[in-house]
Amino acid sequence: MKTSEVMHAWATILSGRAPSISIELTRECPLRCPGCYAYDDGHLGLPGITLRQLADYKGSALVHGVLRLVEERRPLHVSLVGGDPMVRFRELEELLPELERRGVHVQLVTSAFRRIPVQWNALSHLNIVVSVDGLQPEHDVRRKPATYERILKSIDGTKVTIHCTVTGQMMGRPGYLEDFIQFWSERKETKRIWISLFTPQMGAVGPEILTPDERKRVTEDLLRLQAMYPLLDMQKGVIEEFHHPPASPKDCIFAQTTLTVSADLKTRITPCQFGGTPDCSKCGCIASMGLAAVGHHRVLPGVTAGQLFTLSALIGKGVNKLRSLREPNEPVGYPEPEEDREVA
Ligand code: SF4
Ligand code: SF4
Repeated sequence: MKTSEVMHAWATILSGRAPSISIELTRECPLRCPGCYAYDDGHLGLPGITLRQLADYKGSALVHGVLRLVEERRPLHVSLVGGDPMVRFRELEELLPELERRGVHVQLVTSAFRRIPVQWNALSHLNIVVSVDGLQPEHDVRRKPATYERILKSIDGTKVTIHCTVTGQMMGRPGYLEDFIQFWSERKETKRIWISLFTPQMGAVGPEILTPDERKRVTEDLLRLQAMYPLLDMQKGVIEEFHHPPASPKDCIFAQTTLTVSADLKTRITPCQFGGTPDCSKCGCIASMGLAAVGHHRVLPGVTAGQLFTLSALIGKGVNKLRSLREPNEPVGYPEPEEDREVA
């Protein structure tokens, strides 16, 4: 991030707005991945309603709805997730250049079930993140029809970030993570590689969830591999955050600075993009760890960036309260704490 962007983000927080918005662009996805949090019963926090039942937008209504949200909230960064946002491929062809023109950084997260247009290479603020669940044999079972063969065709001629969420199943064989990083490091389409760890909901059980020992091993592996594979874009400080994830959503800078909105462009997902009641003690989200590492950085003697953020966020919330007294219809910019969950 450039200094000007850091100052802009800080000013955004002080004015009571979230510098980052994550939008579930559509309720649709052609995949049925095991462990997918987006379609969990509790994801939306609306009893009896899952993402598949939520109203969503198409065509110009979607394009204008997203642009309206961006103009209201003025974020620096927008994540387009789903469902799979590539389901709304035609709308993206219109939306992405509009967001680029507004200077907004965009992260588009997809399974790459559909071809990514090479002309999107010209969008300098766009980061396409392709989710890959391990090596081909395991991935193809979990993410059919977005198999390795399909992904390699879809990304041909483009530059993408490869993002793997490590699950318990991948930890069964020593060297698995290195084989994965080596495979994707050798692809000319790979711009960088990110690794997250599977984040369960409170009280969940299942083969995806890493044991404490597996979590320790994957962290040690990443610290070793980070020195060997330059495309593994995770600094030591970020990897070490996996040892002590934020204690709760209130302690998570990522959750506190990101407003997540679902496919109806109204329903807020809280306390973070996972929705429901995620188990922070087992969080493996790379974005959360990245911002936690920034938060632990000392900016002044005895003062960390995280402490400065907490103070700035408090000021921002005060600004929001004043604003809502003066302008009752003005939408509140900060993600609501879990106990205040609501449909916006
Ligand atoms: S591609 Fe993403 S949204 Fe679709 S089922 Fe898989 S994890 Fe869920
Ligand atoms: S992203 Fe933050 S709030 Fe969400 S599970 Fe991880 S630590 Fe908790």
